[in-house]
Amino acid sequence: MSKSYDVVVIGAGPGGYIAAIRAAQLGMTVACIDEWKNKDGKNAFGGTCLNAGCIPSKALLESTELFHRAQHEFKKHGISTGDVAMDVATMQKRRASIVRQLTGGIAGLFKANKVDGLVGHGRLLSGSKVEFTPVEGDVETIDAKNVILAAGSTPIELGVAPFDGDKIVDSWAALEFESVPESLGVIGAGVVGLELGSVWARLGAKVTIIEAMDDFLFMADRDVAKVAAKDFKKQGLDIKLGAKMTSAQASANGVTVTYEDAAGTQTLDVEKLIVAVGRRPFSDGLLADDAGVTLDERGFVVVDDECRTSVKNVYAIGDCVRGPMLAHKASEEGVMAADLIAGETSEVNYDVIPSVIYTAPEIAWVGKTEEEVKSSGRSYKTGSFPFAANGRAKALEQTSGMVKVISAEDDDEILGVHIVGPMAGELIAEAVLALEFSASTEDLQRTIHAHPSLAEAVHEAALAADKRALNYINR
Ligand SMILES: Cc1cc2nc3c(=O)[nH]c(=O)nc-3n(C[C@H](O)[C@H](O)[C@H](O)COP(=O)(O)OP(=O)(O)OC[C@H]3O[C@@H](n4cnc5c(N)ncnc54)[C@H](O)[C@@H]3O)c2cc1C
Repeated sequence: MSKSYDVVVIGAGPGGYIAAIRAAQLGMTVACIDEWKNKDGKNAFGGTCLNAGCIPSKALLESTELFHRAQHEFKKHGISTGDVAMDVATMQKRRASIVRQLTGGIAGLFKANKVDGLVGHGRLLSGSKVEFTPVEGDVETIDAKNVILAAGSTPIELGVAPFDGDKIVDSWAALEFESVPESLGVIGAGVVGLELGSVWARLGAKVTIIEAMDDFLFMADRDVAKVAAKDFKKQGLDIKLGAKMTSAQASANGVTVTYEDAAGTQTLDVEKLIVAVGRRPFSDGLLADDAGVTLDERGFVVVDDECRTSVKNVYAIGDCVRGPMLAHKASEEGVMAADLIAGETSEVNYDVIPSVIYTAPEIAWVGKTEEEVKSSGRSYKTGSFPFAANGRAKALEQTSGMVKVISAEDDDEILGVHIVGPMAGELIAEAVLALEFSASTEDLQRTIHAHPSLAEAVHEAALAADKRALNYINR
């Protein structure tokens, strides 16, 4: 007899595994199918995020930031260390161990929540059926009352610079370098390019980032992007804007990159090249021809605001559908899909999704940029507060950056908060909550913030929006 479940989830990344757990908590029988295989040949739950994205990149960013501080900041505290050395093998062992602990944790969560974690390939058939091809054993057809597609995404490969797994690599391979390249080219100054560029630059690689857009961090508020650009330059990241790669030739010695910029054709020789120009939805082998699910021209599964596809009782979430490719967005869509299947009311507030770039300084924002508010025609006010005037930031020796609050002039509602500076990725949580609750600037102003804390910069920026900053001269 074929197996049957209330919900079958295809994909166990942060979208799929969260959807599966939520559905099980709501009393449904659930299976979650995943085929991810790591470079050691072992299958693991967790998808891109835990195996090759968010988690390993943050592990390396932390190790290399500590190395950088030991080299450049400890002296200011009076600490002498002698020569500081980085053992890349140990750093990578730690990264792999963190990944193993967290991905293994999902298997434990599945067990505790009575989710059947199935290792292998899932394919949606017509008529509420899913074909499951296990890693070992025979192909099965599973009856599914509901299906959630959470197949994620994969790096975009450029025809002019095909990945060879050694010299020209994607973000996953760049997280697993066994030694520090002397020189490193990065195509794309987006989140992934900047984070990976920072990791290897801190360890001594000469990093050149080639970006086709003229504006640095075009999606961020301009004031924040300006501060970040200055800091990255100081750190030795050579970011070339308005530069379009036309070819990359790998040889025994490295890679010769050719690109066009305003001055004409340029070449760059590097030991390794990371291509980080974005990701595409991964829908390969996901759908039988007669499954009936509509894909758009770029391969994204077409869904409505509630993540419903063109087929009844089939939902799709995370990187394989429209919207920002972020783990927390995928997870919240997973929660919503499970809730809706269980007949509960649920929604995702797509206007309040935080973005974080884990460079040093960190960059984080939520809501609208000043440019977006301006072009909406709504009258607004802004308040900024620099970390240079914040006691905790001084103690941390991390005074670069600022908090900027943008609020409506008419009803005082906070429209956007933008942070560049220490722990921006943590500080933004307060702003996310403020926007979620449609808080006013005055709400933030009247909220007591611990002293001394970095969060006081958020408080002061809110005060500054009404020219009432207390620890900075209002302008
Ligand atoms: C280097 C890097 C750093 C990142 N850092 C961050 C960060 O700091 N914060 C953040 O929010 N986001 C970050 N991201 C993005 C984040 O990883 C993705 O947004 C997130 O993983 C999307 O989750 P998902 O569940 O939709 O898909 P995925 O995590 O991609 O998971 C999809 C899973 O489905 C499996 N699968 C696909 N098709 C099938 C099939 N037919 N059968 C069985 N299994 C299948 C895949 O093997 C995979 O395991 C980063 C990405 C990269 C590359």
